[in-house]
Order: sequence, then structure tokens, then C-alpha cells
Amino acid sequence: MAHVMGPEKNQRIETLESSARSRRLSNSALEFFNQCLNFGRSVLPQSCQLCGAEGAPEPLCAACRADLPSLPSRRCTICAVPLATGSFCGSCLDRPPRYERVEAAFLYDYPLDALIHAYKYGGRLALARLLGTALAQNVARDVDVIVPMPLSRGRLAERGFNQALEIARIVAGHTRIALLPEACRKVAETPSQAALPWKERARNVRRAFVCDADLTGRKVAVVDDVLTTGATLNELARVLLRAGAAGVRGWVVARTAR
Ligand SMILES: [Zn+2]
Ligand SMILES: [Zn+2]
Repeated sequence: MAHVMGPEKNQRIETLESSARSRRLSNSALEFFNQCLNFGRSVLPQSCQLCGAEGAPEPLCAACRADLPSLPSRRCTICAVPLATGSFCGSCLDRPPRYERVEAAFLYDYPLDALIHAYKYGGRLALARLLGTALAQNVARDVDVIVPMPLSRGRLAERGFNQALEIARIVAGHTRIALLPEACRKVAETPSQAALPWKERARNVRRAFVCDADLTGRKVAVVDDVLTTGATLNELARVLLRAGAAGVRGWVVARTAR
């Protein structure tokens, strides 16, 4: 692991080690100390996840962080899709969704797509903090509870974690809004939405969710990583409203353009 550390950090560790020696720590204590250092090296991100620059304090260096695509200010009031003109997209005008609106931190575009891919499929869990913190900074916090977009059992076993839940934990920490990780379950193993034509997406997720919580009178924010058509959010909103929710909002890290 030494090759990923900057010379400054090496120096600091050497200083720590020599001061430990000078205090005549026993061998076993020094060994324990070294194990702690190794553990720290293995869990702390040492280089930028996008460009590989070393010594980045976060998963991203400052330049890559500044490159993340923000959502244009002209967008649909309801589903947040970028618009050339007007306040509502045609789809929300034709068939208003069950959710009130979508709030997003970023536009789903390069290089954020690469980052989310690394997070979901490369298991880069350190990225949840970055994505969740950015999301928390871009939402109106007037909801009562946070519900993560559920993942089916099969998908959970395959991936090892629910990407929406890990982001939701960070958002809940920042906003101090209660997180209900177990409120909803995905009971149907639906094919990935990405593999389907847009028109089939709503049918694909129908009756995919069950809500076990009583949400009477509560405003709910559903946290997810990416929103594309909104079909999945719309179906979960239906179930949440049936469980008594006073309103449902989508909080997503990234919104795709249409
Ligand atoms: Zn970078
Ligand atoms: Zn819309």
C-alpha cells in the first residue's frame, strides 16, 4: 500500500513510529499500532476515484468535484427533467405523477455516471458519503421521513448492498430526518429498467413494492441514486400513499436528461 501514499504521509507515520519507540512501547503495542496504521491506509481513500490524483482528501480531488454536472435551472417543476422552455414537461402535463416533485443534486452525465457506476458495481462504498452529502445540500428538508428505494432480495444478494440505502443513511445524518430502512420491500424480481423501452417501464414495476409501515399523515422522501423515467418512483409513491403518506417526494442523486 506504500506506493499510494504521499511522501508527507510517510514522513508523518515515521515520526509517529519513532516517537512510539522513544516512549519504549513494548513490541506487541508497537505491532498493534502498526496494524492500526495499516487498517487506516486500507480504509481511507488515497486517490481520486475519477482521475487517480493521489493525496485527495475525499473520494474526489477538488478539480473533479468541480466537474460534476449540475442540474440546469430550467427544468420541469415536477420531475426535474431539463427543459428548453416552460415549467412543466409534456409527460407531467399529460399524466401528472403521484409524487409531488423530484429534487436532485446532479444531472446524470459524464463524469458523474462513471462515479455512480463505480459506486454501484465496483462496490466503492466510500462514494456514498460524497453522493449523500451532495444530495442533502440540494433538497428542501420539509418532510417527516426518508425511505430508501428498496432493492429486491436477489439484487441485494448479487450486489451486497442497497446503493439507495447507503446514500439515504448519509442524507438522514445530515438532515436529522428519520430514516425508515425497512418500511418498504421490493417483492418482485423485475428486469433492470435500463434494459427496457420507456413505455414498458411502468408495466415492469407494477405491484413490485409492498409497504409494511403506517405512514398516516407523514410526508415521505424516497431516496434513490438515479431517476430516469420516474416509473419506479411513481409506483413506489402509489404504495406509500396507500400506506397513508401525506405526500411523496423523490430525492435523487442524479436526474437524467430526456
Ligand atoms: Zn480527480
Ligand atoms: Zn416533468
